[in-house]
Amino acid sequence: MSEPLSLVWLRRDLRLHDNAALYYAFKSGRPVVPVFIFDRTILDALEDRSDRRVEFLVQEVNRLRDELAKVGSTIIVRYGKPVDVWKELIEKYTIGEVFANHDYEVYAKERDKAISDLLAEHAVDFHTSKDQVIFERDEVLSGKKTPYTVFTPYSRKWNGKLTDFYLKSYPTERYFTQFWKTSPEKVPTLHEMGFESVEDKQFPARTVPDEVLDTYDKTRDFPALPHGTSQLSMHLRFGTISVRDLARQAKDADDKTYLNELCWRDFYFQVLDHFPHVEKHSFRRAYDEIEWRNNEDEFEKWCRGETGYPIVDAGMRQLNTIGWMHNRVRMITASFLCKHLLIDWRWGEAYFGKKLRDYDLSANNGGWQWAAGSGADAAPYFRVFNPIRQARKFDSKAAYIQHWVPEVDQPNYPQPMVEHTMARQRAIDAYRKALAKVK
Ligand code: FAD
Repeated sequence: MSEPLSLVWLRRDLRLHDNAALYYAFKSGRPVVPVFIFDRTILDALEDRSDRRVEFLVQEVNRLRDELAKVGSTIIVRYGKPVDVWKELIEKYTIGEVFANHDYEVYAKERDKAISDLLAEHAVDFHTSKDQVIFERDEVLSGKKTPYTVFTPYSRKWNGKLTDFYLKSYPTERYFTQFWKTSPEKVPTLHEMGFESVEDKQFPARTVPDEVLDTYDKTRDFPALPHGTSQLSMHLRFGTISVRDLARQAKDADDKTYLNELCWRDFYFQVLDHFPHVEKHSFRRAYDEIEWRNNEDEFEKWCRGETGYPIVDAGMRQLNTIGWMHNRVRMITASFLCKHLLIDWRWGEAYFGKKLRDYDLSANNGGWQWAAGSGADAAPYFRVFNPIRQARKFDSKAAYIQHWVPEVDQPNYPQPMVEHTMARQRAIDAYRKALAKVK
């Protein structure tokens, strides 16, 4: 029998640098080899057969394979359902232990439980670690030992705890000679998995210059600025960069606003982890009483960016074209859908889920429930963004709008699909009625 291996199951941590699970696998003392599964449970549900996230995954798994080939090893890659794949791996390899990093989504927690049980049947231990966040689970709790549902006190505690210890990188590079010596594995192609290549294959850079972080508080709200924000969300989502490295850089920046964004990221992860009902329901249950209008034609107009409100349309077209939308505009478009059109936030959440290259259930759900007013620490229900005023304030020269909606001043550009003052009052009335029901 061959020497038992330590397998590292990579999921949303596609890097060899500063990776907790990989580090602990090395510490097992056994030869180490990473595994990646193109999970059919997730891929089969994707409607768009040229999904840029799948393209990115294929690119990044190939990159890992090439990096590992340089040290005489590989990544084991499979396409299938995790349980079936693990059954096959258990048959094929002599596995000592399996290592992975925590994932906080309901599906992922169930998946990991199933794999842990399966491995246990074969007397293989499954170890998991914190990796994709700075603080997780019960690390930041209130004085009463309950999870925070309001951001400000959470962030105070989070910042107070943020010593260098938590931001240290795992020194994985030191152990690279311990990778299992084997020949390169084949990575399935997009085509083999039923996908096609995306035309625009431009993925964001992996690093952010210090200057962007130093001035972030002054630039972050202006969608026309090319480097007003870091554009690192996709890399944080797939773990192609380390959040600890980034948080160290942010901590050293002149301005700490960027660090605060990483705190929001952790906040929403812990909301999802502690309150999994948010995945399908309002965080505040009373908001599930709202009588949404849910007009399908109006929803289609919003999706296509044909509402007649230029900032909303610019945002939706940016999303449809490049799979990313500026944060300020995400707030405006989301508020417009829930409040002006009174369409269930879950419709918008699902649409963003299909299109965003940085789609992350926790941040997306948090953002949508914030806009709808139903979330933990959400915007108050009576605050209805005025899309015209927002555009004037944050895109005063209309540079962003002109870029995404070039026909904005032409006669063929549609009239606003709904009048602001009426829509605002209609939303407030609908919300008030719903909230009165549960008082
Ligand atoms: P930067 O402004 O440079 O911020 C740096 C990083 O901080 C981001 O990459 C992100 O990881 C994190 N961050 C920033 N703002 C938030 C926030 N409000 N909540 C959580 N994390 C944050 N972010 C996602 O990563 N995935 C999503 O699916 C997602 N959906 C959203 C939906 C709505 C309706 C709203 C209002 C926000 C959503 N966000 C989401 C948060 C935010 O819009 C994006 O993280 C940001 O626009 C990504 O661009 P960036 O990397 O340039 O961000």
